Amino acid sequence: MAGECHPLLRGGRRESRYGHGFSPAQIQALAAICETLIPSVSLDSINPKIPHDDPALHGFYSASGSQPSVPDEVAEILTKRAQRQVVVMVSIVLKMLSFRLGTLVLCWGSCLASTWPFILNFSEMPVERRERVLMNWSRQKFVVPLRVVFVMIKIYCLFIFYTRTDENSNNLAWEAIGYRVDKRQKPNESHNKQERPLQRGLVETVHETDSSLIQSLTQKGLKVTQIPQHNAFKIKCDVVIIGSGCGGGVAAAVLAHSGQKVVVLEKGNYFVPQDYSSLEGPSLDQLYESSALLSTVDGKIVVLAGSTVGGGSAVNWSACIRTPSHVLKEWSVDHEIRLFGTPDYGSAMDAVCKKIGVTQKCEQEGFQNQILRKGCESLGLKVEAVARNSSEGHFCGSCCYGCRTGDKKGTDSTWLVDAVENGAVILTGCKAKKLILENTPHGEKPKKCLGVIASSVLNKDVTKELHIEAKVTIAACSAVSTPPLLISSGLKNPNIGRNLHLHPCAFAWGYFPENLTGIQGKVYEGGIITSLNRVVSETGAPVPAIIETPSLGPGLFSALCPWTSGANMKERMRKVFEDCPSLYIGPRQGLGRSERGGENRLQPKRIRQGAHENRAEASTEDTDCCRR
Ligand SMILES: Cc1cc2nc3c(=O)[nH]c(=O)nc-3n(C[C@H](O)[C@H](O)[C@H](O)COP(=O)(O)OP(=O)(O)OC[C@H]3O[C@@H](n4cnc5c(N)ncnc54)[C@H](O)[C@@H]3O)c2cc1C
Repeated sequence: MAGECHPLLRGGRRESRYGHGFSPAQIQALAAICETLIPSVSLDSINPKIPHDDPALHGFYSASGSQPSVPDEVAEILTKRAQRQVVVMVSIVLKMLSFRLGTLVLCWGSCLASTWPFILNFSEMPVERRERVLMNWSRQKFVVPLRVVFVMIKIYCLFIFYTRTDENSNNLAWEAIGYRVDKRQKPNESHNKQERPLQRGLVETVHETDSSLIQSLTQKGLKVTQIPQHNAFKIKCDVVIIGSGCGGGVAAAVLAHSGQKVVVLEKGNYFVPQDYSSLEGPSLDQLYESSALLSTVDGKIVVLAGSTVGGGSAVNWSACIRTPSHVLKEWSVDHEIRLFGTPDYGSAMDAVCKKIGVTQKCEQEGFQNQILRKGCESLGLKVEAVARNSSEGHFCGSCCYGCRTGDKKGTDSTWLVDAVENGAVILTGCKAKKLILENTPHGEKPKKCLGVIASSVLNKDVTKELHIEAKVTIAACSAVSTPPLLISSGLKNPNIGRNLHLHPCAFAWGYFPENLTGIQGKVYEGGIITSLNRVVSETGAPVPAIIETPSLGPGLFSALCPWTSGANMKERMRKVFEDCPSLYIGPRQGLGRSERGGENRLQPKRIRQGAHENRAEASTEDTDCCRR
């Protein structure tokens, strides 16, 4: 596997040193938490029926979250990906747990001992007592930071444990829990010899230096000059588009086709089908915003968003559900955006569906969709086939890690290809930091956007800022990342970032062994979403909610799954791939506020009841998931 994919998507550790900055005492406290979340469990104590002579099961049950490098990797990813105030909270709690008095404050009577010195610090406490403490934190309503610290460490620890791989792309737990990485569908070998679809318009900052960058940009037909007083290059074009996802890709194609010189800025890297490894850890790290661990500050909602060339369209689940008529009505009538009520919108949708190759059904439905279909039919509920932007014969279950067959048509293989053919330039690894707003005298509001200031985020050899001046600037960096960009540019409209609407997805899952259902397969095989149920009320009236099946690898599943004890979690993970998860996508809710600083800081507003009501298993920490 390692030789066949892009080096960034391989297994194994890349950095040789950790840069998390936690002290050895803090790491010891963190290791004690990780060990409590994932303890070494004796097979007899958990389930005497489990075969004792199975080395994979034995290795899995005896492994613990404190084994070498897990706590350091948890600390590393936490400091890199979690929001700043969460890192501060975790750091303070770990510091306190490394002292006896601090442990007493946070763990109350659980750390008392009958012998001198009568108080234990956290790592000296027996695992059972630590488990009680963590359960207590997970239910905290009053000392909310303790709940947040618990949720965050739980998410990161389980995620690391179930996704980390060695150089041979093996994870210690996978064989025992029945997980196999998709190696079946190999990309067409002849692709390797072909030019990459976007090559002609591509400038990858990750391969550039200051001096080579100016040459590469000039070769692509851009006018580039130096601005010595700013250590920057000035680039001139007609249109600059921030983000290469669904919005940015279509805008780039249409505007380049009309003769405009277009520059697309994308902070992620560019990958093609033969680069993808289907390995959950490195794929989420490289292809998703914040390694797919972007959460609201309180850890209640994890938001999944793509961050690579193609944005969400490169990693999404390919369901192409047309905007329902009640939503079009809401937008056109209630919000007075008339376009959505006109035939123009319908024909634009037709054009997009044609371009991305939408087909109406899947030739071979996978395990979880068959379960959903059978269950709904047994209950007399209607099941619809889901249109997808891939061929009807496409049923790879790992498109969420990049489609290895290249059958799924994201913007990276459709609209952006058109854009590049018409002279567009795509700058990857390049993050827009702020918009250039026209200076106005005496503190008047700026009236015009003149372009954007960007910089390389993946390569320290590119030290110059890029000042890209354009007649038109389009911010298409998703509903999650656009507001922070506008706010850090100095725009003051109080509504920016205030009306972020998410569709909270509540999970339910059940155990469906083949001997009971007659349905074969694993949840990670077959088309991801090929059937769905639109929820109706008891009177048959439509409810704005749907039930569909998600794609989750062991890392994300374990991170989102409620934790009630270390042993219970291991037992649940052992059976996880005979489970069938389904996703209840509830009505949109005004859940979030994106805040300033060019950083995603999702501040949840009060969550209305509803999203949580259909949860089959109540979660103490209640982490839901959204796709953007
Ligand atoms: C796992 C997953 C599954 C999904 N499944 C489906 C599905 O089945 N059907 C469906 O209809 N929808 C699905 N979606 C949602 C869909 O993909 C998104 O709604 C869509 O991609 C949003 O388009 P966008 O252009 O707004 O942003 P995106 O497609 O997210 O693109 C934004 C791009 O901007 C880049 N960016 C952000 N900030 C900056 C910056 N400052 N500078 C430079 N670049 C920046 C990001 O890296 C990203 O590549 C899914 C999403 C995910 C994550």
